[in-house]
Amino acid sequence: MLTAYFLAEQGHSPILLDKGELAKESSWAGGGILSPLYPWRYAKEISLLSAYGQQHYQSLCQDLYDKTGIDSEWIQSGLLTPNLDELEQAQQWAKQYKSELQIIDNHADLEAIEAQLHPQFESALWMPEIAQLRNPRLLKALKCRLEQMQVEIQAHTAMLDIKQGRNQQVTAVLTEKETITVDRVILCTGAWSGQLNAWKNTPLNVKPVSGEMILFKAAPQQLKRIILHQGRYLIPRQDGRILCGSSLAFTQFDKQIHAKTKQSLQQTAYQLAPFLKQVKIEHHWCGLRPASPNGVPYIDEHPEIKNLYINTGHYRYGVTMGLGSVKLLLDKLMGKTSFLDINHFSLSRERPASHEFLENN
Ligand SMILES: Cc1cc2nc3c(=O)[nH]c(=O)nc-3n(C[C@H](O)[C@H](O)[C@H](O)COP(=O)(O)OP(=O)(O)OC[C@H]3O[C@@H](n4cnc5c(N)ncnc54)[C@H](O)[C@@H]3O)c2cc1C
Repeated sequence: MLTAYFLAEQGHSPILLDKGELAKESSWAGGGILSPLYPWRYAKEISLLSAYGQQHYQSLCQDLYDKTGIDSEWIQSGLLTPNLDELEQAQQWAKQYKSELQIIDNHADLEAIEAQLHPQFESALWMPEIAQLRNPRLLKALKCRLEQMQVEIQAHTAMLDIKQGRNQQVTAVLTEKETITVDRVILCTGAWSGQLNAWKNTPLNVKPVSGEMILFKAAPQQLKRIILHQGRYLIPRQDGRILCGSSLAFTQFDKQIHAKTKQSLQQTAYQLAPFLKQVKIEHHWCGLRPASPNGVPYIDEHPEIKNLYINTGHYRYGVTMGLGSVKLLLDKLMGKTSFLDINHFSLSRERPASHEFLENN
């Protein structure tokens, strides 16, 4: 949707296909935190691409709000990570990327930042600049804006295959209903990307990794900060709702929710903010992250098929990195110099698998 939005803004006429209902997969299911959870643990490309989103989402949300009246709820709630052992790595990373980071080492200061944090915690890392957005609202705003700009949207229309002409150039996209003549095709097909016929000869290493979340219906301002502990987090929305996520499993396109996972997420929530024991759980869902081996996305042209481009594999941080990755790819298509070297994200670049990827795969 971001790709279609920026293309339309630049005067092009994209056609947006989605195999299901528009924008109801991973980008809907995610948390909308605009940062990697422990950025120092990842390849530098993730920090660089994330930084673009961190600098530009606020103005995008404002533009969309001005034009559609739909608020994507960009809020700088800050990220509090209690009892973290990796202080030195975190400080080095923050210095390198000029990100504000404070170490809070007494209970009174912790309480002043987040009064609902469990009193068992004595210290924390505090990153006040980290923001979030309400991703389902961002998608709603984007859809509304695309409709205003009269972008052709075809939901429930899977791209089944492509047709190639001379020089192996894509000339058309085949769907169940019709053959659509095209100049270029950009695949932003998330966890399903590796399944497409286009990758029969040059396999694409993108796997689905499921993540379950639960949603508490609390009152506004009860919890103010994003809290992160041992890989799981609480995210307070503007209307008081609080997300708790998320699980992680290599599942082969299984979006089932599990009672055991719900229980385990509840335990996490109660350990971090005990008042949640009294708050009703409103919703429980699962989404499929598009995992590349180290979480660095593939943003490139297909090695054999001309005019076929790919922008996928954003794994756990595709909302954060999405804005930058769309900018990089569209700049390449328009022949412009971009804010980063796109070769960092090429298909041929080695992506050493992270422990997370190896252990679960
Ligand atoms: C539980 C969870 C929590 C997360 N939290 C965060 C977070 O806090 N911050 C963050 O930055 N990221 C987060 N993420 C990750 C982020 O959501 C993903 O990285 C990102 O949404 C991927 O975007 P995408 O557009 O590639 O995939 P998707 O949003 O899944 O979109 C892919 C689309 O392609 C369509 N499609 C697939 N195949 C075809 C085809 N053949 N023809 C037509 N259409 C097709 C699908 O229907 C789908 O709509 C989270 C993810 C999960 C699951």
